[in-house]
Amino acid sequence: MLGGDLRDQAVWVDEAICIGCRYCAHVATNTFVVEPNLGRSRAIRQDGDSTERIQEAIDTCPVDCIHWVPFESLEALKQDLVRQNLQARPQG
Ligand code: SF4
Repeated sequence: MLGGDLRDQAVWVDEAICIGCRYCAHVATNTFVVEPNLGRSRAIRQDGDSTERIQEAIDTCPVDCIHWVPFESLEALKQDLVRQNLQARPQG
């Protein structure tokens, strides 16, 4: 654990919607990283920040693409993400 809480929900970024603004990564620095190839944010760990801090990051997202999801659905969401074969966002 890295300053995070045990919780029953996992945090998930819908990368198809993410515009790569980095707000979330500035708020919850241990949790969100804008992946350099795709230019979209990803939750790299689930125990990096407090629930409040992650919620703050969710609230700051301008396109509402960060969601609390059941831990059990994470794997299916990841597989679905791979299937979407997202293209890189222009860096800016
Ligand atoms: S705040 Fe939202 S749109 Fe901006 S990088 Fe994070 S997930 Fe993507």
